[in-house]
Amino acid sequence: MTISLRWGAATDTGRVRSVNEDSALVEDGLFAVADGMGGHVAGEVASRVAIDALRTNAGQGLAEAVRLANRAVFERAVDDPSLRGMGTTMCAATLVEQDGRPQLLIANVGDSRVYVFRDGELVQLTDDHSLVGEMERDGRLTAEEAKVHPQRNIVTRVLGNEPDVEVDQFWLDPFRGDRLLLCSDGLFDMVDDDVMVHVLRSEPDANEAAAELVTLANEAGGRDNITVVLVDVVDDGGKAEAASASLAGTTTKSRPVERVVRDDEPAEPAPAPSNRRPRAGRATRHLTWRSALFVLALLAIVAGAAGGTWWFARTGYFVGIDRHRVTLFQGRPGGVLFLDPTVEHRTGLRLGDLPPARRAAVEDQHEFTTKAAAERFIDRLRQETTTTTTTTPGTTSTTVLPPTSAPTPSSTP
Ligand code: MN
Repeated sequence: MTISLRWGAATDTGRVRSVNEDSALVEDGLFAVADGMGGHVAGEVASRVAIDALRTNAGQGLAEAVRLANRAVFERAVDDPSLRGMGTTMCAATLVEQDGRPQLLIANVGDSRVYVFRDGELVQLTDDHSLVGEMERDGRLTAEEAKVHPQRNIVTRVLGNEPDVEVDQFWLDPFRGDRLLLCSDGLFDMVDDDVMVHVLRSEPDANEAAAELVTLANEAGGRDNITVVLVDVVDDGGKAEAASASLAGTTTKSRPVERVVRDDEPAEPAPAPSNRRPRAGRATRHLTWRSALFVLALLAIVAGAAGGTWWFARTGYFVGIDRHRVTLFQGRPGGVLFLDPTVEHRTGLRLGDLPPARRAAVEDQHEFTTKAAAERFIDRLRQETTTTTTTTPGTTSTTVLPPTSAPTPSSTP
């Protein structure tokens, strides 16, 4: 059995940013979108390095190629201090043979998305690795709340920040008429699902449809870079007809979208239910209940605004000075409303101990999305201090070690 694909793509800087940090890959049988981050040129470099590595390593399997792309970005950031902290999302799709049948294999890290448009419905296949995505999966936010949440741009998993990364994989049994949509958040943050559906239904040419989606995102404000890759299944060797014929006269859907999730870890035939793992058909239900949720959404927005403020005030970490010592805080510098940052732990380091180049970052109360990242920053400060200065006399017993170090004697009850 053979599958024929036709594809199109479009990308644009948008109306606010000055640089397009997105990159895309559009080759026969291999498609990807990467949304780089890191400021200045770093985001642009991250997404391009990732896409190049994906293409180079595609022969090793999709998930492995994404892991190697992660490694490539990570190593590039280690080699070049001006690129430190850069990262990129990546979603990718490829055609593979599975038990003699062509299948679409999809991989994802980050908050770019892969959707399938089938039978008039748009179904999101990937999970967003973002704080709001996790809250939505845990049932703490609705899809509508997530879409307008002030922290929706915080990504919880990216390529390039760690030497290794966990890659989500999904399989899709392709049928003629399917349209696979890969896109960066610059599209779905700006354009509603039903508007995307309208374009996908009315514009058959993949290039035209991709360009139209980018235009709509710009007309809605274009607040971010926008990248769209659209892959059409134009022939499936008669599979779609066979599926329809076998179900003629019934109301059952002939080609339900099944989101088959695969972990890279030990292949288990039936994954145990867990609130971290997605459930098949979730996005379909969301579309069907859309109108009924409208009234609830209004109430939810009010609650969400209050919760969002609290959440905004309490998420994130920064490194600053407290009692003349370099200190890790949880919260936002200066606080939000009456919600003040709290001291997570105070190190023994003084501002004056730090190399001059580092003092500015601490004085500016440099922010981090995760505690681990803030602790790594402090570890680096500590290393740089021990290599550049001699031990200061008189600070013997006051040093407070971070929780990851050996237990301090003072912690005994
Ligand atoms: Mn983006």
